[in-house]
Amino acid sequence: MSASFSPGQRWPVAVLGATGAVGQTFIRQLANHPWFEIAELAASDRSAGRPYAEACRWLEGSLPQELATRNVVRCDPAEVKSPLVFSALDSGVAGDVEQAFARAGKLVLSNAKNHRMDADVPLVIPEVNAPHLDLLESQRRNRHWTGGIVTNANCAATVAAMAMAPLHQAFGISKAMVFTMQAVSGAGYPGVASLDILGNVIPFIGEEEPKVERELGKMLGAFSDGAVQVADLKVSAHTNRVPTEHGHLVCLSLGFGRRVSPDEALEAMCNWRGHDEARGLPSSPEQPLVVTREPDRPQTRRDVNAGRGMTVTAGRIRSDPLFDVKLVALGHNTIRGAAGGSILNAELLAARGLLPRA
Ligand code: NAP
Repeated sequence: MSASFSPGQRWPVAVLGATGAVGQTFIRQLANHPWFEIAELAASDRSAGRPYAEACRWLEGSLPQELATRNVVRCDPAEVKSPLVFSALDSGVAGDVEQAFARAGKLVLSNAKNHRMDADVPLVIPEVNAPHLDLLESQRRNRHWTGGIVTNANCAATVAAMAMAPLHQAFGISKAMVFTMQAVSGAGYPGVASLDILGNVIPFIGEEEPKVERELGKMLGAFSDGAVQVADLKVSAHTNRVPTEHGHLVCLSLGFGRRVSPDEALEAMCNWRGHDEARGLPSSPEQPLVVTREPDRPQTRRDVNAGRGMTVTAGRIRSDPLFDVKLVALGHNTIRGAAGGSILNAELLAARGLLPRA
């Protein structure tokens, strides 16, 4: 564990975009966190200066009382003192704001799309590609920053990556068809209008398919010579919004460099525990990937909260007449696919002694 921690000390952290769907998930996930303590809540000028309970429409469970009366501040590094910043900002503003924080010496854990594909920005799921965090060093060198930006992936891409990682590591995936059924909380709050989604499926999510198609190659790539070597796999994505609350269900058809049987795929997935460094952190689930043998699982309502929302559940591993293997995977979009994933990244940075000092 990092020498930066002394017993009982917790790192003060800020949440940018604290009023939104992901921002609120950060607040729930950080309640009683052993290493991090929310010191500041920031959002747009619409919310700044107001007590948090008035600025946001709290969506789930109880709003922690100690935060209800806390005034929201602007997303300005001059107003936010915490050295570690979780960003749940809308992508329309995240790009510039996150850079301003990194330039000011803050370490930003971002959920937004803006910097994910920058060559010197880590796009990390600790179990899948913990070594990619080493990119932070070249980012700081290239950009003359003492802070930095570490990102987690698009929520649907995260679910797909966790199911694909054991198969890519064992056999090398050459092509993937990714078909998603994504919950409404993935669109934020207020998100999709109820009359658009109740009793309906919308076969379009703006900018989602390109994100899934490009982020998988970066996440599954190897880290060597100080850079991520993007995995050589072709991805085709169909993304759909469906009327579920939380949880993205992803159907995958996968082709490999050689013939891979469903039994081989099953064995690789069942034996996978993820990267060693990702084990034993406060937010690490007991198992990052659980494979169910039941013929009609995973199901969104029944499996979305596996591992307190941090476990991806996969099943229906069978042979595919066009590719080699097909399967279904499910993960919680605002926890594993957003706030929980970001917090796990911060824990990994802390365990490596890479958090900036307060
Ligand atoms: P959301 O509910 O719409 O929340 C957006 C947040 O951004 C709010 O706190 C809002 O503050 C703030 N904001 C908007 N304009 C701003 C400005 N000009 N300056 C400062 N703050 C501003 O969206 P969300 O679903 O939480 O998503 C947040 C980010 O995470 C997005 O980049 C999204 O793509 C990404 N993401 C979301 C999910 C998911 O499952 N929802 C998963 C992975 C990644 P105000 O309330 O003050 O307007």
